[in-house]
Amino acid sequence: MRTVSDYFGSKVFDDRVMRATLSAEVYASLRKTIDEGSALDPGVANAVAEAMKNWAVANGATHFTHWFQPLTGITAEKHDSFITPSPDGSVIMEFSGKELIKGEPDASSFPSGGLRATFEARGYTAWDPTSYAFIKGKTLCIPTAFCSYGGHALDKKTPLLRSMEVLSRQALRILRLFGNNTARRVVSSVGPEQEYFLITKEMYDQRPDLRFTGRTLFGAKPPKGQELDDHYFGVIKPAVASFMDDLNEELWKLGILAKTEHNEVAPAQHELAPIYTTTNVATDHNQLTMEIMQKVAAKHGLVCLLHEKPFAGVNGSGKHNNWSIATDVGQNLLSPGDTPYENAQFLLFLCAVIKAVDDYQDLLRISVATAGNDHRLGANEAPPAVISIFLGDELTAVLEAIENDTPYQGVEKTQMRLGVDVLPKFNRDTTDRNRTSPFAFTGNKFEFRMLGSSNSIACANIMLNSAVAESLRIYADRLEQAEDFQTALHEVIRKTIRDHKRIIFNGNGYDEAWIREATGQRGLLNYRTTADCMPHLLDEKNVTMLTGLGVFTVDELRSRRDIMLENYCKSVTIEANTMVNMVHKRVAPAITRFTADLAKQAAEKKALFPDLACSYETELVTKLSELTDRITEKTDELEEAVLGLQDAEDIIAESVLIRDTVLPKMSELRIPCDRAELLTAKSYWPFPTYGDILFSVK
Ligand code: ADP
Ligand code: MG
Repeated sequence: MRTVSDYFGSKVFDDRVMRATLSAEVYASLRKTIDEGSALDPGVANAVAEAMKNWAVANGATHFTHWFQPLTGITAEKHDSFITPSPDGSVIMEFSGKELIKGEPDASSFPSGGLRATFEARGYTAWDPTSYAFIKGKTLCIPTAFCSYGGHALDKKTPLLRSMEVLSRQALRILRLFGNNTARRVVSSVGPEQEYFLITKEMYDQRPDLRFTGRTLFGAKPPKGQELDDHYFGVIKPAVASFMDDLNEELWKLGILAKTEHNEVAPAQHELAPIYTTTNVATDHNQLTMEIMQKVAAKHGLVCLLHEKPFAGVNGSGKHNNWSIATDVGQNLLSPGDTPYENAQFLLFLCAVIKAVDDYQDLLRISVATAGNDHRLGANEAPPAVISIFLGDELTAVLEAIENDTPYQGVEKTQMRLGVDVLPKFNRDTTDRNRTSPFAFTGNKFEFRMLGSSNSIACANIMLNSAVAESLRIYADRLEQAEDFQTALHEVIRKTIRDHKRIIFNGNGYDEAWIREATGQRGLLNYRTTADCMPHLLDEKNVTMLTGLGVFTVDELRSRRDIMLENYCKSVTIEANTMVNMVHKRVAPAITRFTADLAKQAAEKKALFPDLACSYETELVTKLSELTDRITEKTDELEEAVLGLQDAEDIIAESVLIRDTVLPKMSELRIPCDRAELLTAKSYWPFPTYGDILFSVK
């Protein structure tokens, strides 16, 4: 029998293949580029291209593509075949080092937020050797970064790589201060837990809202939802199990470390988590995972919904971004150590994260902002839009002891003198106890829980890496100048705790009282919507930090703000138009038909039995007619709100109109529609209900 280890990574040009197909010198040179980011020799590129092509062709590939991640949030590819004509009329398969290293897709239709004037519409893609090439279908996919000719990043990979680089540089400065002279790089790693819904294609096809917007815009709550908690970790249904089997196999062939799978809270909701890996690779893998989930679902007659909130009133889907930093030899810098020295170093890195999250709450919120995710955050199923850190009681007490110079009241009293005492053993919270925290320390990593299920994880990790790099930079500047390292270290840690402890919160993040406390005395930010947070990307402190570290240029930031806001406005406008269309074409006609039939029946009954009151029919007709009037009125108002968008001066003004007029009108229109659904006979209702959809997969 073929086992997983036989085919794991079989579609990846990974280290095993490189070693087997490249000469020792070429392999060593490429390895150096991958591990240390050194420039690639053109001769080496030719040799690598040749080996890659031979391997790909032997594995059934006919085409190659530079696979990149434009600002649309999904991946893009343009296929070229390997064929080159030869004089005798046949073809040979060719692929040069030049083609491997650089591509020039005609990418003028990708969003650039004004970065790429149309006269220089072409950008170029550049090979990212740190992420292995792979075969998808019959195409060799080469992970690439996408830039304009002016050198501006037009994608999500370029700033992510830059952020990893600056984090490494600043973290190394700190490690050197602790006497670590051997680490050559510090790498951030991520394990993203991906949630999704599976429904049947049959149901999906009958819902224009799902097809056009990825979520339902109408739908009354089903009699049974997630109340019984009987789905979470429940037995996996046969159709889902068979989907998961196929999915795992496809992912494993691509070298993606799919590890855990289980049912989630809502009916039809599931989760897949891979084993963590380097942030850059984890990002590529997550993009591929989302794509392959959808493809495999289609093969099974299913549709995989990645929208953050496909069903109102039912839990939405998120993506937990488990993040940590480690040296190139695998020392996790967020893991408490066994010696006083290691502990002090751990505490400093911990403080760097605390400071980063407090200083750049807005950037973290911005990094997960989309129209879809706005429905989740703060909806008592996902973390609130207010950012705070969960450390657990014990670690918090350790920090308090340091701040106040008081003994730590753990199992035994310990005075906390850094670099002298061993950190008392505290209970590491690996149990995921506090699921309400947006940013939780779980023993040796942080779990950032605000990401939406469809988000590229690149954005969150760019901000996280950069913000932490900034804390480390400030610490290193201070500590490198210090006369007495121990004293200065103690001071830096104390100051961080004092200045930033407001961001630490171990309680229930869903509690209304917490939101009041957070936004009140603690002064934490609460940006509820994309329209609220996105303009702050260009706040001076954010621009200073991100440009100072070289992660973004001002132009890149401006273009990203505009693209994200455009995306928000467009998504919601499409939803509004879909609603209007569904009302006119389906909802209103269905109700009218039903009421007309009811009225007709009542009239027929009355003709035969004049004494009958027919109050059932009469009351229902009255109620439904009133609802239809209300629906018409609300539809008109929504249409008007959409028209009003034309008056917006710029994209910021438009996003405010979306938030304040279009979205509220959509909610108002939905209410009478959902009410009418409950009152209308099933055979008349023009599309499947929540009950039909959520329990459709057997
Ligand atoms: P849960 O959150 O369900 O309790 P785990 O904490 O075991 O599950 O793991 C969730 C994810 O965190 C997995 O993708 C796992 O690989 C990842 N993870 C574990 N350790 C680290 C780490 N040091 N750095 C980054 N991710 C990690
Ligand atoms: Mg988790």
